Formats: sequence, C-alpha cells, structure tokens
Amino acid sequence: MAIATIDEAVRDTRDGRMITADAVIALARLQGPRISGLPMDADGFIAVDAHGRVAGARDVFAAGDSTTGRIKQGGLAAQQADAAAEAIAAEAGAPVTARPCRRVLRGVLVTGEAPLYLRRDLDRAHPEAPGGVSRTPLWWPSGKLAGHYLAGFLAVGEESGDALSDRPSWPVLAQPTSEGPTMSTILIGVDASERSQDAIAFGNRLAALSSAHVVVACAFPYNDAIRQGSNPEYRKALADEAEQTASTMRDRLDEIDADRLLVRITANPSPAHALRDLAEAEHAEMIVVGSSHTGRLGRVAPGSTGERLLHGAPCAIAVVPHGYRTSHEQPIRRIGVAYDGSEEAAAAVAAAIELARTFSAELEIIGVVAPETYTGSGMLAGPTYTFEDLEHTVQESLDMVIAGIPSDVSAVSVRLTGDPADQLGERSAMLDLMLAGSRGYGPLRSVLVGGVSGRLIRTVQCPVIVIPRGVEAPLATLFGAVASVV
Ligand SMILES: Cc1cc2nc3c(=O)[nH]c(=O)nc-3n(C[C@H](O)[C@H](O)[C@H](O)COP(=O)(O)OP(=O)(O)OC[C@H]3O[C@@H](n4cnc5c(N)ncnc54)[C@H](O)[C@@H]3O)c2cc1C
Repeated sequence: MAIATIDEAVRDTRDGRMITADAVIALARLQGPRISGLPMDADGFIAVDAHGRVAGARDVFAAGDSTTGRIKQGGLAAQQADAAAEAIAAEAGAPVTARPCRRVLRGVLVTGEAPLYLRRDLDRAHPEAPGGVSRTPLWWPSGKLAGHYLAGFLAVGEESGDALSDRPSWPVLAQPTSEGPTMSTILIGVDASERSQDAIAFGNRLAALSSAHVVVACAFPYNDAIRQGSNPEYRKALADEAEQTASTMRDRLDEIDADRLLVRITANPSPAHALRDLAEAEHAEMIVVGSSHTGRLGRVAPGSTGERLLHGAPCAIAVVPHGYRTSHEQPIRRIGVAYDGSEEAAAAVAAAIELARTFSAELEIIGVVAPETYTGSGMLAGPTYTFEDLEHTVQESLDMVIAGIPSDVSAVSVRLTGDPADQLGERSAMLDLMLAGSRGYGPLRSVLVGGVSGRLIRTVQCPVIVIPRGVEAPLATLFGAVASVV
C-alpha cells in the first residue's frame, strides 16, 4: 500500500485509513519513466515483447528498467537490448536472425571473502547456463554487469573484449541429507608441478576403489576481493592456465570413469585456503595433496600446502610424498595407524579398518612410548610411575584396540620407543599408507599437542592420511559401501 507517516501513525494514501504503528518498514515502490506518447502500464512502465518491440507502437523498441519486467537489472537490460538490436537489424534487412530475449539473471554477491557468483535461467531456455551458486565465476568475463558484449567491454574498456560465455555450474556433489551423505567426494589439489602427479597417482588408487566423485582442483594466484588494480586480462590468463593444468592432471586419472571426474579452478592467493573452501563447499571427505617439490625424495617438506591444510581443514587430508608417482604400482598391503589412546587416534583406527578392507591390507596399530614424556612429567610431578609402567600402559591400549578390530581385518600391534614423529616416520618406510588423528597424543598429550601430525607429515615416507577430529565414522562414505564387496 502507499503510505504517508503522520506522527506515530501511518495513513494509507489510497483510502485515507489511519493505522497506529511503533515502527514502519517501507519498501520502495517502482515507478516507470512515464514517457509521454508511449503506451504504458499504471505505474508508467512500457510493455514490450521478447524482441523489445513496444506493444501498441510502431517501430518503437525499448529495453531495460523502463520496461514492465519485474526484475530490474543491468544484465537483463543488456540482454533485452541485444534482442531489440537484432530485431531492428533484421527488420532493416541485415542478415541476422532476430532471436527472442531469453533472460539469464547473473549476479555477483560481494562478500567479505571471495565473491559469490549466482545464476538463474529465468526462462529455462539456456541449458548451458543452469542455475548455480559458486565461488568461482559462472561466466566470463565475470563482472557484475553481465551483458553479452557489455561484460567484455567493461572488463577491458574497449570493444575487443570477449563476448560473455557461461561456464558450467558446479554441482555440489555430496550434499548431506537427513539420512547422511549418499555420495562422497575426493578433492585432489594440483598445480603444474610433479608433486601433483604424486597426488594424482594416490587419488587414482583411492578413487578406483570407491564410488566417490573426484574433483581436480587448481587454485590460481589472484585476489578477486581486491578491486583496485584488478587486471582482468592477467586474471584470465591465470585462469586459463589453471584450467589447462587441472585438465591435464584429470586426464591422468585413467582408472576413473569420466562422469565421476570434475575440474575446478578457483582464484585464491593461498592454495590451502582455496582447497579448504572448496572442500567445504563440496562436502569433500578427503583432500589429497602432494608434498612440496623442495622436499627430499620420499619426504614431505615443511611449510607445504599439505601442512597448512592441517590447520582447520574440514575433512581428512592425504599428503603424498614426493616421488610416489613412480612407486604407486606397488600394492597397498600394509596400513599403519599412529595410535595414542586418544579419541582422535580411535577415529583414525576406524578409518583404517575401512581402508584395510578396501585394499585387503593388513593393519598395524603403532604406539610410541616417548621417553621424553616420561622424564618430563617425572620432573614436574614427581616419579609416580616408571618407564616400564608407561610401556605397559601403551601396550595395554594397543592390545585393547587389536581386540576390538573386526575379525575380517587382520591387525597387529607395534610398540616403538622414541620421539613419536621420528619413530612413526621411520616405521612408515615399511608401510604403504599411514593414518593419524589430527591432534592429541594420549594421556600425556601436552608434550605433543599440535606437533605430531605436523612433524609426522614431514618425516613420513608413504602417503599419510590425517583424520579430522570428532568424526564418528571417517571415510565410511568413501569406502564403507565398497568394502563389503572387495
Ligand atoms: C545501487 C545500484 C546497484 C546496481 N547494481 C547492479 C549490478 O551490480 N548489476 C546489474 O546488472 N545491475 C545493477 N543495477 C541495476 C542497473 O543499474 C540497472 O538495471 C540498469 O542501469 C538499467 O539500465 P537502463 O539503461 O534500462 O536504465 P538507466 O541506466 O537508468 O538509464 C536510463 C537513462 O535514461 C535517462 N532518462 C530517463 N528518462 C528520461 C527522459 N524522459 N528523457 C531523457 N532521458 C531519460 C536517464 O537519465 C538514464 O540515463 C544496480 C542499480 C542500482 C541503483
């Protein structure tokens, strides 16, 4: 209704009725331009057909906010204008087909982080532009005014800019439902280096034995949030290169059906952040990354994307050591779990059971007795127990785990003594895969809080999967269903 406010009441200007109110929230009412001489509706807007032709007026075309369409938007205005231009040109005898305007609403929501791209095909007439919401551009050039020619013009400031083209919307593959996730996703982070081939080789093996979708993701170093000094041409070059890299890596996944494979590129100066965001958006159950190429052969280097990912990734992280691509033919026969009695380590055991079934591998539950823990605590709190007590406690908890492992999985316990990260790293030379909880290291965890997983991935010589905290059945959707038939 149209209103006028008078003191603490509002008056409906149409019928003069007074309504008392504490607060008034008003929505602007659209008024058309009321161009005299042209037919218009009650609000002053001009009715046009799908070619922009003004209803009831000869040789008059209109496009944009002044027309009767309920959604006023620059992108839609440009699409209407394109249709009108074609109709005018065709009528004037130009060899063009006058196509009706088919509206696709493309919007960029500028958020605190990377912008969010939104697309909706209002006429359901563009199969190449399905609806979607994405952190990576759903069209290119990806500006806020998404007109066929206008977007390119605005991007480069001249006519030679690219015409607008849509990119497939990115399906969210593993939407959790009330019954739990039905499909799962493995995200493999790649760049153009050899370490990505290591990640691909490992991802290939995992995905081949699961029904998971595989997303090959490549982040390119561009910050969409910083508009000042933005360089669309440079961005496009980086995006093209990233797409090429990801596609090449995807083609290496020769054991996976094409319909399970997707390529995803994203602008982000931090590959770790990019992968974390993507994993969250896709409900990925695992991110696979290679080690830094500066690492020694068979080792993961500190400061790598994998290591950064360990700080807050929403799913399991698999870090694949340098050179794995050359040894990946070796079957996965022995899987180790770093076990320290913590809940996090128990989750790693649960995941390892699924993997052991999937690969028909033997499990090794590894406990490390750390003398430093023993002496350190002894110095602080008095020698309440001996080193033998500690050994006994570790062995007892290992035995308990072994006793709880289902009978179809063969498992042994291994007790080591020394610095846990070093010991586990050394032991990994005898393993084909290792799992660890993301944090915590048993009753005396203070010595190792936050340190073991980070250091472990530097010393480990086989792929290591770090399981997130607080997940009841980690990797179950990746391998649970398959495990029963392998
Ligand atoms: C704050 C804001 C943010 C927006 N952000 C976006 C966005 O991110 N993306 C997007 O796609 N759209 C956006 N829009 C919408 C977009 O600006 C409009 O949809 C678009 O400009 C419409 O284009 P138009 O040519 O139809 O009308 P306009 O751009 O309004 O142009 C109409 C022109 O006609 C002139 N005119 C009007 N009446 C007469 C007259 N009687 N005689 C002579 N001249 C006249 C006006 O002065 C004006 O120059 C935004 C709008 C606003 C207000």
